[in-house]
Amino acid sequence: MLLFFATNVAAKDVQSEISRALHGYTTYSESVEILARLEKQMPYENALDDAQVMAFKCWFSNVSTPNGISEYKQFLETAKPVIHQASNLYLIQELAVCEANQEYTQGNYQNALEHLKPIINTSSLDEITSSKKLSIIALAHIVLNRIQLAKGNYQEAFDSAKTAYQLFEKAGNDYEKALALKEIADIHIALYNYELAIEQLQRAKLALTKFNEQEQYKVADKLAYAYEEKGDLIKAIELYESIKKDVRRFESDNGYAYILIKLTELNIKLNSLSQAESYLTELNTLSVTDSWILTLYNFTKSEWYLATAQLQAALSSHEKIAGQQQFWPESLKERYLNLTSQLAAATGDTSLQIASQQQLITLIKTKQQAIANNTLISARLNFNYEQQILEISRLEHESKLQQKLLSVAEDKSFWQGLTMMITCLCLLLFAVYTFKQVRQKKYFEILALKDELTGIANRRAILNLKRSVMLQNKLNQQVSSLISIDIDHFKAVNDQYGHDIGDELIISITNTIVQTVRCSDRVGRVGGEEFLIVLENQSLEHAKDIAERIRLSVAEKEHTSLSISATISLGVIEIAPNETSEQAAKRVDLNLYTAKRSGRNSVVV
Ligand code: GH3
Ligand code: MG
Ligand code: MG
Repeated sequence: MLLFFATNVAAKDVQSEISRALHGYTTYSESVEILARLEKQMPYENALDDAQVMAFKCWFSNVSTPNGISEYKQFLETAKPVIHQASNLYLIQELAVCEANQEYTQGNYQNALEHLKPIINTSSLDEITSSKKLSIIALAHIVLNRIQLAKGNYQEAFDSAKTAYQLFEKAGNDYEKALALKEIADIHIALYNYELAIEQLQRAKLALTKFNEQEQYKVADKLAYAYEEKGDLIKAIELYESIKKDVRRFESDNGYAYILIKLTELNIKLNSLSQAESYLTELNTLSVTDSWILTLYNFTKSEWYLATAQLQAALSSHEKIAGQQQFWPESLKERYLNLTSQLAAATGDTSLQIASQQQLITLIKTKQQAIANNTLISARLNFNYEQQILEISRLEHESKLQQKLLSVAEDKSFWQGLTMMITCLCLLLFAVYTFKQVRQKKYFEILALKDELTGIANRRAILNLKRSVMLQNKLNQQVSSLISIDIDHFKAVNDQYGHDIGDELIISITNTIVQTVRCSDRVGRVGGEEFLIVLENQSLEHAKDIAERIRLSVAEKEHTSLSISATISLGVIEIAPNETSEQAAKRVDLNLYTAKRSGRNSVVV
């Protein structure tokens, strides 16, 4: 009994786990994990389960390397008998679609078509209602669409993709339906019709929000590419930026490097060189091993060096990509010729420059011809526009509804937690508010005492300080001194160089004064170009030395961005024990006045 129960659960698991992955709810690595787990439990009680796992595995093999291809072929040999033994038509057809896709990626279109024929030629599509069967026929159409696109049969490709889309819709397979839009976008891209591609991709992106994150950034990546080709580089950068974090999470260094390379490339194009440099710096920390990504990397590096006038480095990166052109798409060839021609111009290699320009012209002419030839087809492929609008509004409505449901559910099950959280939050907010208020008050207090231009004490602050020092003097029977300073012929500076340089001079002289005195000596700006220094606990003798030092440092220095010279006049007094603050101020100003009258750039004590 227990055994029966256990095998039954396993059988149910196989079906539901595979279906979860096939319907887009798992990321790639999660799907691979599921596959590994299911494979480990083989053989199952029920031969159908073994066949299901094998059919599922068909979608997860690397067929891009020679090793991968032969391994995959071996796998298919073992999978076939297992699947045929279960004699389940769906699984046999699924296997055939997989095989077709494999032949397609190898460029064997005829073989691929042979695998697809029996599935596609199902006579009466209208009578089929099984969602599984509909999905398999749709998948066959997706592969057919890719084959037609590769052969340049755009109309046929489009018809297949559209059929696939409609079949997925009928099957209620929203995930694959959204992916079919990506295929349609690929056709538009091949026809250089980026506007239409963008429309379909945006539609796909919206439809994929409820599935795994990986599919979303894959669409966003394609969308960015379409924007770039259309010439909207800002939008492309925005999109790459938006998926950067997810790509880092899910992809290897190679995949992440690709996004950074694109961001660098686009920023160089926009002449945002410092932004480009920051991406390049991050790129240098990655280990890029994929040869295609390395090619793109060297491309971008060469363009970067050229843009920053590092010709030798640009040439050496350029050398690394030369000689691989035959495998490149047209857009990359165009980029290569552009770069080559610019480098030739920079090194003065006129004949190379002319040769690459000529090739470029041929390439662009061919492209223009292709665009002209495709315009008619392109216009016909504007996919059921009204349905699209309806669908977008439905998807938006759905996602809103989902959010609402989610919040209601959370409300119910976590209301207690929420109440507590709200209480804590209120307390926290209150604490933050109080803290902010105290800080704000402090900030304004400081602001009220600081001179805006120079950052030293303002008139109010330094006069307050003078008063409190005088009080201290009386209490402790100590002596303190004052120095009053005025810049010489300052009006002439304003008149000759303008107010801005005048301000710069005030700042420069302030800095010189502050650097010459000790921290305990307080400097304040009491007027436009007038300063007061309060020297607590310093006798007249000391104050005089300090004043002389200040005068010399100001006179010796070159000030402002125009390196002008300036001098100051200084008055010095020692505060008498019984005089008032005003009397002291008058005395020190009198000395300053005397210094001015006796020819300026001097100290009067
Ligand atoms: P003296 O040697 O007799 O001191 O000549 P002076 O030209 O410096 O004469 P005075 O001290 O009377 O002139 C001060 C000038 O400083 C007048 C005013 O236009 C200018 N001024 C006052 N405040 C500021 C300021 O914040 N920035 C600038 N750039 N100029 C200021
Ligand atoms: Mg003055
Ligand atoms: Mg002056």
